[in-house]
Amino acid sequence: MAVRHILCTQCDLPLDVDETAKSVNCRHCNTRVITEAMVVAEYVAVRRFATANRMRITKKGIVYAAVRADALEVEGVLQGDVVSLSSIRIAKSAQVKGSLRGASLSLEPGATFVGDVAIGPEQVPRAEPTVDGALAREAAAREAAGR
Ligand SMILES: [Zn+2]
Repeated sequence: MAVRHILCTQCDLPLDVDETAKSVNCRHCNTRVITEAMVVAEYVAVRRFATANRMRITKKGIVYAAVRADALEVEGVLQGDVVSLSSIRIAKSAQVKGSLRGASLSLEPGATFVGDVAIGPEQVPRAEPTVDGALAREAAAREAAGR
């Protein structure tokens, strides 16, 4: 089986998952983490909408949620705060309202975007942290959890 290194979408700690897995239970925080690529072509209204993989919101997609993905493409409507570990692409047909955090951003002419942006490699958790970094974060998470 091929293994993919991801970060838990809830606690940001590193996980190794089978490339074909659709979801996995985080061994750090015990949250169910979606690990499959998502194509959203419908109306979605939830508090938090997350995958440790790519997410594409098509022209038919209307999403009201805080979104977290490894890479995000928006062609439809998105209202909510976004964290993407790598790129955020806002296509010319998109209407986006909310704050964006990502390693990089591309905004096509014609797109509507209203909100704050924080873009750069240092703005997001690293997808492949160093062992030291991962250990430090695990220690910090344990401390935060009071263990
Ligand atoms: Zn976790």
